[in-house]
Amino acid sequence: MSDPLLWSGDVIVAGGGSAGCAAAVAAAREGASVLLVESAGFFGGTGAAVLDTFYGFYPPGGNERVVGGIGWEVCEALFAREAAFERPNTYGAGTGVTYEPEILKQVWDDLLADADVTTLLHATVTDVLMDGDKVSHLGLHTAAGPRSVKAVVYIDATGDAELAWRAGAAVDAPRDQVRRQPMTATFRLGGVDLARTSAADLHRRMAEATGYVLPRREGSTHRTMLPGVVHTNLTRVSGADPTDPWQLSDAEREGRRQVREYVRFLTAEVPGYEQAYLINTSIRIGVRESRRLRGRYLLTRYDVLQAREFADAIARCGAPVEDHDGGSKTVWEYVGGAATGRSYGVPYGCLLPVEVGNLLVAGRCLSATHSAHASVRSMAQCFATGQAAGTAASFGENPADLDVQVLRKRLIDQGALL
Ligand SMILES: Cc1cc2nc3c(=O)[nH]c(=O)nc-3n(C[C@H](O)[C@H](O)[C@H](O)COP(=O)(O)OP(=O)(O)OC[C@H]3O[C@@H](n4cnc5c(N)ncnc54)[C@H](O)[C@@H]3O)c2cc1C
Repeated sequence: MSDPLLWSGDVIVAGGGSAGCAAAVAAAREGASVLLVESAGFFGGTGAAVLDTFYGFYPPGGNERVVGGIGWEVCEALFAREAAFERPNTYGAGTGVTYEPEILKQVWDDLLADADVTTLLHATVTDVLMDGDKVSHLGLHTAAGPRSVKAVVYIDATGDAELAWRAGAAVDAPRDQVRRQPMTATFRLGGVDLARTSAADLHRRMAEATGYVLPRREGSTHRTMLPGVVHTNLTRVSGADPTDPWQLSDAEREGRRQVREYVRFLTAEVPGYEQAYLINTSIRIGVRESRRLRGRYLLTRYDVLQAREFADAIARCGAPVEDHDGGSKTVWEYVGGAATGRSYGVPYGCLLPVEVGNLLVAGRCLSATHSAHASVRSMAQCFATGQAAGTAASFGENPADLDVQVLRKRLIDQGALL
């Protein structure tokens, strides 16, 4: 690669969302030199740009946490700053941790700095250069123009399997999928009289509303850390391919158009919202599902619903299959068949491409079918798979050959719940 070399070291993590930040911290704490590359100007990814509630720490119907480690450290740092609280969910996902996204960005800045991770913001991976079956360099677009970076092991935490796809690993691309989760522009409203609102009343009014185009007739408007401010997850842009530049652009505009319509509905029809005003829409539209790795193990709906255990599990998940690809409703299917607090193991093979030797994939682009992905994509699991990928990367250049039981022991020592 002829572009000037900006950095070289042990591990490069591409994508600074929940999975990528956890991966970078984990690898650095294990003694690796780590570069974390993120195209936005902040860390936290979808968790900071679109959302305000971590799900997946607690399975629905259970009080026992199934994710610890770095993910829970993030929660504890938020609690310590009085920037988060546990919020029981009334309709499916189990108890969540609702946080202030601005403080989440600061928590990640601190955790990454404390772990000695080298961080690069406003830098986008645009090329993957191969040497045989190994990634040799990444090409970046930076503020200074094109640059290259080099490591022994790479972690793809881009959400879109950007590295795996560019490196030639098998991926399930959205355009080839029969089913695809819709995208959602979230928004915040201020001036809400929360004492006069309830989820049941809102859902009833949405179901009965006439004269409004509301693609989703349930969904969440919930309290936040800020007085009179609610965060919403209501809009639904269906059928668009987030890896198609034109469709993604249209989806952003359509998301904002729907936000206008939901605000019109809420302020006109729902008690408590009469004086509400729009504070902001999400920094970018929320993408639930795009490219997914087809790795050494493909997690299936059967694995999820049967609450399967795996000898090489590196994370646990009790989040239900939450499929928004179902008209105006959301389909919930529970781990083990009912909301009784059960969970399953996430196999290490879900992080490993078949075709590329020195690459791991973590977070929402790991190897799972559409339905299994609808369970394993919650942020607690992205933290956990990120931590596992980062720790595995610190073992050296052949992640597929490491002793998984040694990796599991290391994760348990770090506080992971397996
Ligand atoms: C609308 C919506 C609602 C959801 N609700 C919840 C919820 O309430 N609770 C919950 O737990 N989960 C929820 N989820 C799921 C969850 O938010 C995601 O699955 C999770 O945040 C994904 O984390 P990640 O780290 O894998 O990816 P992301 O957080 O998406 O991070 C990927 C990062 O990679 C960066 N990136 C991408 N390409 C490149 C590149 N080429 N170069 C450099 N950087 C790059 C991106 O900028 C981004 O920061 C929701 C998802 C959506 C879309």
